[in-house]
Amino acid sequence: MVAAGKNMIVFDLACDNNHPFEGWFGSADDFTLQAKAGDIACPVCGSVEITRQLSAPYVNTRSGGKQSDESQMVSVANAAQELKKKFIDHVLNNTEDVGHRFPEEARRIFYKEAPERAIRGTASSQEVGELKEEGIDVMAIPGAPALPEKLH
Ligand SMILES: [Zn+2]
Repeated sequence: MVAAGKNMIVFDLACDNNHPFEGWFGSADDFTLQAKAGDIACPVCGSVEITRQLSAPYVNTRSGGKQSDESQMVSVANAAQELKKKFIDHVLNNTEDVGHRFPEEARRIFYKEAPERAIRGTASSQEVGELKEEGIDVMAIPGAPALPEKLH
């Protein structure tokens, strides 16, 4: 089979004498109309009683709906990954790494015992919960905790 033309669909067809052949159409509707009008004739016996066979391969410049959905999902996921990476980069470049002293340092800053600045570090989820209860603005960055150590 040779693929030719754009937006053409090739159907596997057969006449009522079971002679298989291929036909090119702009759409499935085109086939139905032409078959009904008797415009499609079997190249072997000339019969116009043509039926479409299942599992027809098709050539189309546009991919199927399912495929494009999937590629869209992938690009959205990539964009989210990219944003997250930029966000983490931003945090790493604009915060002071206080490591395990994070909960203590966050409190000191909140209660004005230490100079106000952005910090990052590690804290258990319990410690984060306690900080939030005290009204301290803490943001957990999933997947990022290993990063600060790697940079140094
Ligand atoms: Zn035939």
